[in-house]
Amino acid sequence: MKIRGISRDLLELLLEVGRDRHPYEFAGILRETDGVIDEFNLLPGTVSSETSASLFLDMMPLDTHVAGSAHSHPNGALVPSDADLSFFPRVGRFHLIIGYPYTGENWRCFRANGNPTEMEVIG
Ligand SMILES: [Zn+2]
Repeated sequence: MKIRGISRDLLELLLEVGRDRHPYEFAGILRETDGVIDEFNLLPGTVSSETSASLFLDMMPLDTHVAGSAHSHPNGALVPSDADLSFFPRVGRFHLIIGYPYTGENWRCFRANGNPTEMEVIG
């Protein structure tokens, strides 16, 4: 399935969850419907560090509608960490990092290899 973009509603939800969890991280799985990323499954438990986020993601069962992952960086750095680069390839093709202060500009999308990529916001 070719991914065309992410729904505006979902992006706003991710930014809201980031604000809500701050100063802790959140992490979860992005799912798509007809090529639009429109669903987010928050991983259970309190994710408080990069390492625990990676461990949770490693344990997630994959299904065909999983498009990638999303997680927050409370330090605001919109670049993947070493831990991120090791789990990205295991959980799909597109990976959003949401950073403090969690406004409309504070997110970026990366490919599984860690290269930044465009992600259209739809709706
Ligand atoms: Zn990270």
